[in-house]
Amino acid sequence: MTQAETGTEVVDDLRRSLDGDVVLPGDVQYDSARACFNAFVDRRPAVIVRCLGRADVATAFDFARAAGLEVAVRGGGHNPAGHCVLDGGLVIDLSRMRRVHVDRDRRIARAEGGSTWLDFDTATVAEGLVTPGGVVGSTGVCGLALGGGIGHLTAQHGLTCDNIVGAHLVTPDASFVRASADENPELLWALRGGGGNFGVATHLEFRLHPVQPVIGGRLTYRGPVGDVLRAFRDAVAEAPGDASCQAVLLVDESLEPAVAVFPCVTGSHDDHPLIETLRSIPGLVEDGVRRHSFVAQQSLFGTGYGVDRHYWKGHFVRELPDELIDELVRRISALGRPPGDILFESLHGAPKSADAPPGAIGYRHAAFNVSATATWRDPALDDEHIAWSRETASAIEPWSWSGGGYANYMQADEPIERVRAMFADGAFDRLQALKRRYDPGNVLRRNQNIPPGQ
Ligand SMILES: Cc1cc2nc3c(=O)[nH]c(=O)nc-3n(C[C@H](O)[C@H](O)[C@H](O)COP(=O)(O)OP(=O)(O)OC[C@H]3O[C@@H](n4cnc5c(N)ncnc54)[C@H](O)[C@@H]3O)c2cc1C
Repeated sequence: MTQAETGTEVVDDLRRSLDGDVVLPGDVQYDSARACFNAFVDRRPAVIVRCLGRADVATAFDFARAAGLEVAVRGGGHNPAGHCVLDGGLVIDLSRMRRVHVDRDRRIARAEGGSTWLDFDTATVAEGLVTPGGVVGSTGVCGLALGGGIGHLTAQHGLTCDNIVGAHLVTPDASFVRASADENPELLWALRGGGGNFGVATHLEFRLHPVQPVIGGRLTYRGPVGDVLRAFRDAVAEAPGDASCQAVLLVDESLEPAVAVFPCVTGSHDDHPLIETLRSIPGLVEDGVRRHSFVAQQSLFGTGYGVDRHYWKGHFVRELPDELIDELVRRISALGRPPGDILFESLHGAPKSADAPPGAIGYRHAAFNVSATATWRDPALDDEHIAWSRETASAIEPWSWSGGGYANYMQADEPIERVRAMFADGAFDRLQALKRRYDPGNVLRRNQNIPPGQ
């Protein structure tokens, strides 16, 4: 569809049939509506449909089919691959659907398809409740949850997708489908990690858990950072299930590496063995750990939207041996300028519980998710930073749990084997069978794709 055609009666009809609105090239809001978190992604859709409910999503699917337009789905716009926007196609934009309803008695939250973690945490923490989500407030709840979800409460309450208990989807043929333990339970299983492959979630429902102020914050270390990472690794291996913990290896312009560690401990005791161990690690230069609200914990990772260019690549690892740590410490300054970070997310605790609900995801059995998150601003440095991320991921690969990547961090250039290897044994065939049922034409392919297969 050309720009001229989108200005015709056809688009006027579309506008009239929506509760939401339509943004076209040339409209004042076009550039902000097509921007995503990753400034590396610069695409120009033909039509952006900003939906206000499931009928709008169905109308958008119908319109795209009739006009022969490819479709992308936008939640919070955070996916580093930029799957939320496309050249010349139609974006089903959920960013005006951000309500979060909390049922305190049933301990269930119902989040609209475009809600963010800031929307979610604000609504649930006000009721003393929480679900384990992402660590940056502007990330989309549904996009993150459908891809897994690792954050500050992973050890306590599992992956975000483990907490999905229901969904309302609009499938590409514009049908409405409900998934829950009682209705289409196989689809619910698939939504726990299978991404946006089966339909647009106008709502996801999550199990909630009581939350008090947590012991958390940031500890910064300099000096022997390899030893710091080894001590972090050993400390989280022994950490009980009331303590989540992530670490970041970084450098500033001086190229002196540093490690930042982000614990999050729940419960009412003021002393905790993990915090004591982390505080005793030599090289601690800044101790920002204290008891604070969970919402304060969720604001530790603040970062500008649409400002930096990103290319992320990594592996779930079986273990974090000394030689890998030494290689990553070498690589963080190898580029001769700050390349971004190397992120270590621990998967100890609840993800490995025998009580974890059934879901497609397999990587819960890995020890850590280790990611080379290249971040830069100057487009002239694209090739160097992308190469750094790829080479760093190659250095991690020998310890990979299954060869799979993390759907939530993967770029669009990853091969299907990396998607397949994320899932539990035999899961990919089941996911493909569901894809044939709900999206046989692979309309929803702008994602970490599960093709329908035979
Ligand atoms: C700064 C930053 C911080 C992050 N922090 C974390 C973190 O702490 N933990 C973690 O696990 N991940 C994290 N992520 C990764 C994030 O979870 C994924 O990128 C996720 O895909 C983002 O979802 P979104 O809705 O914001 O993105 P979008 O780019 O809008 O959507 C990505 C894809 O998700 C699907 N999708 C989104 N919403 C829906 C919906 N309602 N229905 C159906 N499909 C949908 C679509 O396929 C879409 O293309 C982070 C990413 C960034 C950039």
